[in-house]
Parts: sequence; structure tokens; C-alpha cells
Amino acid sequence: MKRKSVLITGASRGIGRAAAAAFAKGGYDLVLNCIHSGKELNSFAGKLREEFGIQTLCCCGDVSSYAFVCRMFEEIADFCKGVDVLVNNAGISYIGLLEEMPYEEWERVLHTNLTSVFSCCKCAIPYMVAQKAGRIINVSSDWGVYGASCEAAYSAAKGGMNALTKALAKELAPSNVQVNAVACGVIDTDMNTGFDEEERRCLEEEIPAGYFAKPEEVAEFLYQLAETPPYLTGQIIAFDGGWM
Ligand code: NAD
Repeated sequence: MKRKSVLITGASRGIGRAAAAAFAKGGYDLVLNCIHSGKELNSFAGKLREEFGIQTLCCCGDVSSYAFVCRMFEEIADFCKGVDVLVNNAGISYIGLLEEMPYEEWERVLHTNLTSVFSCCKCAIPYMVAQKAGRIINVSSDWGVYGASCEAAYSAAKGGMNALTKALAKELAPSNVQVNAVACGVIDTDMNTGFDEEERRCLEEEIPAGYFAKPEEVAEFLYQLAETPPYLTGQIIAFDGGWM
């Protein structure tokens, strides 16, 4: 029987890397993407292949480029025809006042966090619809629901991702394709290395669970979500230790 396959964007570190390990453990073949660290991604994929006896394909490139995403899906078609699960995880943040944000940075944040989701979904959907089965999981943020000062572009991109999730879930439910978003709170990854010790302590005090979640905790949840019945769809699920 053909093993299930998953594409995880932004898999070289943080949540994406932990998700790759979780899906590998669950017996999935992996398609892994990241923007810069192709060599590290290849060696990580090699370790997962050895440990779990799965197949892997690494596609290094920029998912904010529609042309790159199309090329990546041509490689995917040769590797495994199409993916059963798509995890749209690649993302970047930008901290600063909107009035001081250069237009180019606005474009970069929107294209990396949101347009990439359009592109990957557009390319992944035909296979899923033909199989009458599929899962799309968008890695979102509490800020997409509540907004954050000095992160207006990021909040707008994740808010767009949430609306896209709900709309696409309606479009794809008749084809038995599930679409959900996981709205993360604070996860202990490189994205949050900007906090000094005092800032970190204050933030941890605000979170009812009392700590920044480990990427492995989110990863385990992403894996479990991919295994739930497709009737659970169109949801923005907070994963934030009760923060918001
Ligand atoms: P990270 O910075 O540790 O990793 C980001 C990954 O995305 C890297 O693998 C990087 O190569 C990849 N990436 C960035 N731009 C890319 C591009 N244009 N094309 C391809 N790959 C690209 O970040 P993380 O904390 O693991 O975040 C993963 C996701 O979770 C992001 O979408 C982020 O917005 C979301 N999120 C994170 C937090 C948090 O607190 N860390 C909170 C809420 C949401």
C-alpha cells in the first residue's frame, strides 16, 4: 500500500522541523522545503529516512515565489504524484511601526506568509480532489485573530490566512478535503530569540500555561490534526496555553 505523503514548508528549523520528525514517526513520506539551509535540510531528511524507513524529497527555495512553488510541485508529481497532507508553515515576522515599514517589507511579509499559502494550496488541491481525500493545515498565529501592535503586516497576513482557511474549507468539504489553521501563541523557536530574559519572564507570566510551548508540542498537534476525521474543517484552533 502507498504510504501517505506530506509537504511541510519551512522545515529546516523550529515548528516545521519538529513537524517533519512527527510525520516521519507516523510513517509518512516527506517533502520538505526551506529557503536557505538546503544542505542541513538534506542531512536531516537523511536521518529521518534511516530512522523511520520512509522516502524523502527536499526542495530548497522561496515559497513566496509562485514560479518556485509550481516547479516544486512538478518534482512532487515525479516523487509521489501528489501530497495527502499540506502543512503551510513557512513564515517570517516583522517588528516595527507600520508608518516606518518600507513597502518592500510589507510585500515580503504578505507574500511569504499568505501568497505562499495560495500557491501551495492551488498546486496541491487537484491531486487531493481527484483522490477525494486530503488535509491542509495552515500554521497561523493568535495575532491573525487579535492583531499585535508593531506587527500589523504579520497580523494582516495571518488574518488573511485564517479567512482563506475558512473559505477554502467550504470550497473543499464536498471533495472530502479538510482545511484548518492552528493559531499558535508563543513557541520557543528562533523566531522569538529577540526577547531578553526580563521580557521573556514577563511574557511567560502572562501565559496561563506558564511557558513558551516547545516546537515538538505544536508538531505533535499538527500530526494529530492530520489524522482527525475530515468533518472537522474550517476551524482556527488556538494552540496558545490559554493565552488569548
Ligand atoms: P522559524 O523562523 O524558526 O522557521 C521558519 C522556517 O520558515 C524556516 O525553515 C525558514 O527556512 C522557512 N522560511 C522562511 N521564509 C521562507 C520562504 N520564503 N520560503 C521557504 N521557506 C521559508 O519560525 P517558527 O517559529 O518555526 O515559525 C513557523 C510558523 O509558525 C510561521 O508561519 C510562524 O508565523 C508561525 N508562528 C510561530 C510562532 C512562534 O512563536 N514561534 C507563533 C505563531 C505563529
